[in-house]
Amino acid sequence: SNAILLFRDDLRLSDHPALTAAAQSGQCLTCAFILDPNAPYPPGGARRWWLHHALNALTAQLADLGGKLVLRTGATADVLADLRKETGATHIYWSRRYTPDEIASDTALKADLTAAGCTVQSHPGRYLLEPWRVTTKSGTPFKVFSPFWRASRDEIRAVGLGDPLPVPKNITFADEVATASLEDFDLLPTAPNWAKGFEALWHPGEEGAMARLDAFLEEGAQGYAKGRDFPAEPHTSRLSPYLQSGNISPRQIWAALDRAEHLGQMSGRDAEKFRAELGWRDFAAYLLFHNRDFEDTEFQPKFRSFPWRHDTDALIAWQRGQSGYPIVDAGMRELWQTGYMHNRVRMVVASFLVKHLRIDWRAGRDWFWDTLLDGDLASNAASWQWVAGCGADAAPYFRVFNPMTQAEKFDPDGGYIRQYVPEIAALPDRYLAAPWKAPEDVRAKAGVEIGRTYPAPMVDHATARRAALEAFESLPSPG
Ligand code: FAD
Repeated sequence: SNAILLFRDDLRLSDHPALTAAAQSGQCLTCAFILDPNAPYPPGGARRWWLHHALNALTAQLADLGGKLVLRTGATADVLADLRKETGATHIYWSRRYTPDEIASDTALKADLTAAGCTVQSHPGRYLLEPWRVTTKSGTPFKVFSPFWRASRDEIRAVGLGDPLPVPKNITFADEVATASLEDFDLLPTAPNWAKGFEALWHPGEEGAMARLDAFLEEGAQGYAKGRDFPAEPHTSRLSPYLQSGNISPRQIWAALDRAEHLGQMSGRDAEKFRAELGWRDFAAYLLFHNRDFEDTEFQPKFRSFPWRHDTDALIAWQRGQSGYPIVDAGMRELWQTGYMHNRVRMVVASFLVKHLRIDWRAGRDWFWDTLLDGDLASNAASWQWVAGCGADAAPYFRVFNPMTQAEKFDPDGGYIRQYVPEIAALPDRYLAAPWKAPEDVRAKAGVEIGRTYPAPMVDHATARRAALEAFESLPSPG
């Protein structure tokens, strides 16, 4: 008999439980990807670029095995009906998805397919643990990361994650059916090509993911726990876009960490810290799974009446990296130029938007969604809510990041700021965090004219901080 393997956000061949099950069934397989214009949460511009290249890579991988990736556009249910007719498939395999609308859509699809006599098999693979695996002692979902992670860690120790699966051997491919061309998907930017800067940095696809993982283990893994806070240093893995598109699984990374620790490539402390970051990724998905409106609504009800400011000009200055605070501007420009931003800087720019500018965190979330290659519904919402202070296990609202001391502390040599804010690069290190504070003659020598070559700070830190705290105080107290 024949089967369809439906690829979605699991664009890899190794450690792919659904693909392995389909291959082992002995059925003739059609591998398909459907671009559904009405799919929930359509990817932003940056992720569309990634998808194009990742699909290209997957097509080449399948061709090496003698197979093909069938590309189609249209409503998923209709396309699957066509494909079933064309191939005679009686089984469909896919990897599970976990966001509210995706669950709803997959549940409905599965019910229709089953009613039509088709067997649907869904498999895990996106997270370390399925989001229903751990609960508090009383059986309710966790709201705080530390106990969630302790329980998850215990579960992993007790049960294990299992070894990552190899690429299945001897897949029997079904006879070919028609496919659209990747160009028909129209995923790439046209004029202007804002993705120019992406090509040198990213290699979407499974091979690129493995290369990135190996490079990180060699260059950055040792010293991760401390080094991960310094944006100019190579101590972050940059695996997030690969994880987001499923070019690599968290279980494969976990196994690599075990290996690296065993070989002394990474200290136990560094490896455990990295595991906990994968834990934060699981936790974000867990929060969204158990709180359907978490993506859009403040977890803590008292924040739902926060007096946000509506200020389009300020939002645009933030988006374009023209705030006048170099660490904020460096981050926003890194995002625009590379589709990525270092985690420490994400926290600083997010805090600046919601506290210094008092602009709704959802405006920041949306900009990140469109521009991040790793844009992820759960991690993005969880992180924005964390910074805004309204999340489940959030930083307290009154903790307002000071963009100047953050720069001094985490970019002490100015390597990061100089890279993305070249117009102030000639200033001595100690003025890079706050160039307007440099003496006139120092600025003149460095060719910096505040308000002309580089913007004046759009708000005064102390004043903005006070206004944010006042807005916070104005909220009704809980209970
Ligand atoms: P590493 O330090 O190498 O971490 C390894 C992996 O752990 C990451 O690839 C990621 O999958 C996971 N991870 C690390 N930190 C976090 C975290 N705080 N929350 C969830 N997972 C984490 N991450 C996304 O993947 N998608 C998003 O849309 C996203 N939006 C964010 C928005 C804001 C405002 C903030 C402050 C953070 C956001 N993050 C998001 C989390 C984090 O910044 C990125 O996962 C991380 O910077 C990715 O870089 P890396 O792979 O080099 O990280």
